[in-house]
Amino acid sequence: MGKMQEFDVIVIGGGIVGTAIARELSRFKLRTALLEANVDIGAASTKGNGGVTHSGYDPKQGTLKSKINVKGTLMIPKLSKELGFKFINSGTMTLGFEDSDLSVLQKLYKNGLANGVPGIKLIGRDEILKIDKKANPKATMALHAPTAGVVDPFEFAIALAENASENGVEFFRSQKVIGIEKEKNHFVVKTQNNSYKTNYIVNAAGVYGSEVANMVGIYDYEVKPRYGEILVIDKAIGFQLSSVFFPVPGNHTKGVAVIPTPDGNIIVGSTARMTEDKEDVSVTREGISELLKGAKLLVPDIDERYLIREFAGLRPVAINNNDDFVIAASKEVKGFINAIGIQSPGVGAAPAIAEYVMDILSNEGLELKEKEDFNPYRTAIVDFSEANDQEKSKLIKENLMYGNVICRCECVTEAEIVQAIHRPVGATTVDGVKRRVRAGMGRCQGGFCQPKVVSILARELRIPLEAVLLENKNSNIVIGKLKHQEVKG
Ligand SMILES: Cc1cc2nc3c(=O)[nH]c(=O)nc-3n(C[C@H](O)[C@H](O)[C@H](O)COP(=O)(O)OP(=O)(O)OC[C@H]3O[C@@H](n4cnc5c(N)ncnc54)[C@H](O)[C@@H]3O)c2cc1C
Repeated sequence: MGKMQEFDVIVIGGGIVGTAIARELSRFKLRTALLEANVDIGAASTKGNGGVTHSGYDPKQGTLKSKINVKGTLMIPKLSKELGFKFINSGTMTLGFEDSDLSVLQKLYKNGLANGVPGIKLIGRDEILKIDKKANPKATMALHAPTAGVVDPFEFAIALAENASENGVEFFRSQKVIGIEKEKNHFVVKTQNNSYKTNYIVNAAGVYGSEVANMVGIYDYEVKPRYGEILVIDKAIGFQLSSVFFPVPGNHTKGVAVIPTPDGNIIVGSTARMTEDKEDVSVTREGISELLKGAKLLVPDIDERYLIREFAGLRPVAINNNDDFVIAASKEVKGFINAIGIQSPGVGAAPAIAEYVMDILSNEGLELKEKEDFNPYRTAIVDFSEANDQEKSKLIKENLMYGNVICRCECVTEAEIVQAIHRPVGATTVDGVKRRVRAGMGRCQGGFCQPKVVSILARELRIPLEAVLLENKNSNIVIGKLKHQEVKG
């Protein structure tokens, strides 16, 4: 066995929280690693959510969540420019229909002011329709929050990870942490096939946050999943929205929202129920009906005939914790920091969570010396579908693979797919390609391009077709050859 790799900090979990922390750590002269159980990063809660960067009027005043939410969301526009991920500053409108809704909206408005959310306003029907004419005209009032917006949550996580990697963070995927030993001044973190030595651990393991904390004997928090379903509406519906729409919220959720995505789709989400199962993300017929009903209340033109996909995700909820995030150093286990129970608004909050974790690490004695050569910028893969004709022919002249459209629905070329595979923390699976360049995200949901993507992955990774995975372990797509034919990309 080789020498055990040694790090100053190990982040456990490569969701939006772990990747944001890794990117922040990459500013400093530290040996940092991120261990992710799944084959790819961003493939748990971070892939199954609405992508709204909430303004922060909702979390209870005085909670850690309220402070971190407002701050994080305000960091998103600059980050999106630095890291080249899409962000649309759509704002949100929470619509009220009845007199009883007004008092809830007023309460939220006051809570938002107390949380320091900039620009929030209570508005009437005319203003609602001025912001977005697709709003239900029966809405009589709304809480408008202009700092909110939308991102592709996995594009955001991938951008953070790529930039962290370029700045020296080591990413180890398919490395599920199964045990942690606390020695005198350091930890030994064990996965199925490796051990890593580290002085500090940041636990960003999402719904498995309590299991990882338990490995060092911390039983203070229990993280349970709150399941939620989401629908994707095809671009063919023919309209896009200028705002995110929410109903007046329930006790634990923001209710069924209608959300424009940065890529031109509309999504509807989400349902919410606590569950014990940390893996089951199958969708239900009842969920779909509930979502469609909720969506039509806000935007009556939502039409189920354009529904192209349903998926579900799990929110990591720290129970009996006042609905708040848990971001703190352990008092008992020196060097162990939790960043768990990050339910919504984890996406917008992530950059501020990362900064907060740096303060904690520094208070715990980690020396944070800035690197002179930290590069905050990442260039995104050029989106061929968005290029004009002149740019397109230039791209094709430079690289013929731009002339080979693999995903027809989203107009994704072979050149983009090859780049997605070879970038830092690159795609190794069909879903990894999908999340990086959108091949398979369109109307046919990969029906046409999936075999082509499989063969490009096999060719570029120099692995047999049979070894290419859809997403996780044992999700092989090809099981053998029917005839002795070559499949061409
Ligand atoms: C339906 C739904 C809608 C939502 N909508 C929004 C929204 O619009 N806006 C918003 O801000 N938030 C939203 N959220 C919440 C958001 O998804 C979460 O706040 C966020 O994704 C949490 O990120 P995370 O990094 O903590 O968890 P995750 O993304 O789950 O990351 C944790 C990672 O840790 C890894 N891991 C676990 N155990 C181990 C181990 N033992 N070893 C190594 N790795 C391990 C996992 O594989 C995973 O990749 C929504 C959630 C759901 C379910």
